[in-house]
Amino acid sequence: MDKSRLLGQYQPEAIQDFRAVPRNLADEAGYFLEIQTLNAFERMFTAAQSAGVNLRIVSAIRSFERQKTIWENKWYGRTLTNGINLAEAHFSDTEKAERILLYSAMPGTSRHHWGSDFDLNSVEPEYFQSPEGLSVLSWLENHAREFGFARPYTPKNSTRPDGYEDEPWHWSYLPVSIPMLEQYLKLINYSDLQGFAGASLAASLRIIPRFVAGLSPDCLAATL
Ligand SMILES: [Zn+2]
Repeated sequence: MDKSRLLGQYQPEAIQDFRAVPRNLADEAGYFLEIQTLNAFERMFTAAQSAGVNLRIVSAIRSFERQKTIWENKWYGRTLTNGINLAEAHFSDTEKAERILLYSAMPGTSRHHWGSDFDLNSVEPEYFQSPEGLSVLSWLENHAREFGFARPYTPKNSTRPDGYEDEPWHWSYLPVSIPMLEQYLKLINYSDLQGFAGASLAASLRIIPRFVAGLSPDCLAATL
């Protein structure tokens, strides 16, 4: 496995087993997914539709560069982080990073680099408390596993004590993501994480065990 593939350092169009997501499965054009992931998603999409549940992809593959833009927009206060402008607040760099890490990954550490992971319907927690969001999530929780999908970022508890907050929108195709995770944990170390604001904090923040491996048990082990 090439490290650049694990770190998102590529153009999605140039990766042989990535495919463009058909427009009817997504909220906009231009997304890519790994081909087995996309095929399994299309099967799940059709089954959901027969049950009256509408799924749409709202984020799929993100490159290192895209993740760097998201991260640095928060770091430099160009976008708000949970309502706060981090450039104007008087936080240490470590505190700034911890606040971004509630929902956003450091570049080079996102599962969105792998082609196996995507976000469904909305990235707003409130949507998943609405009647529509609740019924979508309930259908997925009952059926996604039949198609190979699981949620990495379940609510935190004793089995997932650390990592990002609960992300009911984020789903992962386990036949692809479990081997990617194994390769990541074997090959990537902190010297590979550089080229963005706050990169030097990755080791002291223990980004790899806390966030890359801070997953639901379903996403940590080959239990298919
Ligand atoms: Zn996501």
